[in-house]
Amino acid sequence: MSFHKLSDETIFVDDSVFGFFGRSESEESFSNSRMIENEEDEDEDVDESKCFWEAQFQLLHATLTKSSSMESTIRRATKTALSATICVCQIPISGGCKDCLLKHVCDYLKNAGFNTAICKSKWRSSPDIPSGEHKYIDVMDTSSCKKGEVRVVIELNLRQEFQMGRASKEYNELIKRLPEIFVGKAERLKNLIKIICSSAKKCMKENKMHMGPWRKQTYMHAKWFGTYERTILVPAVFSLAVSAFSDQRSKLPKSSMLTFDLLHNFPSLHCTAVQVL
Ligand SMILES: [Zn+2]
Repeated sequence: MSFHKLSDETIFVDDSVFGFFGRSESEESFSNSRMIENEEDEDEDVDESKCFWEAQFQLLHATLTKSSSMESTIRRATKTALSATICVCQIPISGGCKDCLLKHVCDYLKNAGFNTAICKSKWRSSPDIPSGEHKYIDVMDTSSCKKGEVRVVIELNLRQEFQMGRASKEYNELIKRLPEIFVGKAERLKNLIKIICSSAKKCMKENKMHMGPWRKQTYMHAKWFGTYERTILVPAVFSLAVSAFSDQRSKLPKSSMLTFDLLHNFPSLHCTAVQVL
């Protein structure tokens, strides 16, 4: 359709309704010539964008396909734990609420012999990011003398953490490839955060949208690697003993009282119940 014909047609259209068509022929011609000038630039942009997304897919694939035997073992155990989840809340949620799921998985892994805990991270707001908190599970593996202590993170809603409402096709496609439940070394999660956050940034830039600070790498990083309190769950039988000594709580430092009391009263439990890093 030529612009001449278009402007002929617009004569019969109410300009106040279809304001978009109300531009004069000279305006149309001007933007048309600019479009041709910009075509080469746009081609370059398209190529650059294509390269970027291809690289992101490859990076993600490389990060997710590698797995140590220790990571695989913990992953299998987590999967088994989740196959029989129960919500013990007064109003149970089908499939289990987040707190029950965390506790259930943590309990299961502990019984299976892993040094596991529920971690609660909390961070203050900074000029860059708002404050927030997050709960997840970790396993400290000390089985390898060579590698020392290796931290494995278990995130039950990884995909959800990175989903964006009005994201591009490429970004959504990338998120689809993330596991719903992440079980992997801390370093692997750090890599994933880097890949996904730079993709989110690119996606928002391409969509000409502002990226919320809670989507930033710094914010995502704080969720799993900011200051956190590590609470080791104790068997239910001990909880009675804990309440019996509750009068001593005021003398103890502010932390996870449940586990702290236990250590106080059961010194034979040689473990670090609360580890704030
Ligand atoms: Zn529940």
